[in-house]
Amino acid sequence: MRRYVIAGNWKMNKTVAEATETAAELRRLVSQVRDCDIIIAPTYTALWPVAQKLSDSNISVCAQEIHFEKSGAFTGAISADMVKEAGCVYTLVGHSERRQIFGETLATSRQRMQAAFDAGLTPILCIGETLEEREAGRTMQVVGEQLDAAIEGFDLATLENMIVAYEPVWAIGTGKVATPQQAQEVHAGIRERLRYVGQDLAAGMRLLYGGSVKPANAQELMSQADIDGVLVGGASLKADSFADIVKARS
Ligand code: PGA
Repeated sequence: MRRYVIAGNWKMNKTVAEATETAAELRRLVSQVRDCDIIIAPTYTALWPVAQKLSDSNISVCAQEIHFEKSGAFTGAISADMVKEAGCVYTLVGHSERRQIFGETLATSRQRMQAAFDAGLTPILCIGETLEEREAGRTMQVVGEQLDAAIEGFDLATLENMIVAYEPVWAIGTGKVATPQQAQEVHAGIRERLRYVGQDLAAGMRLLYGGSVKPANAQELMSQADIDGVLVGGASLKADSFADIVKARS
């Protein structure tokens, strides 16, 4: 049985005061939940204070991004060890906003996976196609390339410690959610592709869906056979709506 994962990506939102307030409220709302992994990804400045607020709770903290080098002259960058020290257990890798706005490539997503594994963080690898790619019938090709590039060369034991989030770019922040069937089809395709790497790896990999997830659509998405949770942007910013999504898992 794969354990559900409900992850919230706060993106560039919330001051430290706002982030700690939301974290404290969320902690209260989901304190009874034991059967899934609950994760939030605040912005860098809020990582440490939010991790403090959530200590000894059932909610873990995730970085939105790490740089792949360990240290050095990389102005503005933050290393995997730094976010780990600030209380992170997870990091996103290859979010489409990083790919589209900040020049993340197939090669640098692989480097970030390495940095995450080296630091003992669990990477949540984000992959997904644009509308143009979907309409050209290239969804599985694009998603497959992003997956293959990021996991290339790692052994099975290492890859067991990662999560994949399928996030169609056209569904992120647009209100256009993929239908549960569309999402399931791609999730099944991703799991199939992982079978070439390892049968057990594929069977155990948690595959999250992301893109305009809300309390109203979360349950149907998560009831699909290969959808093991969700990565939520906008609807994770309010503690009560995120808590409703946590409670919607089937
Ligand atoms: P959204 O963002 O839920 O606001 O569409 C999802 C994401 O970018 O992870």
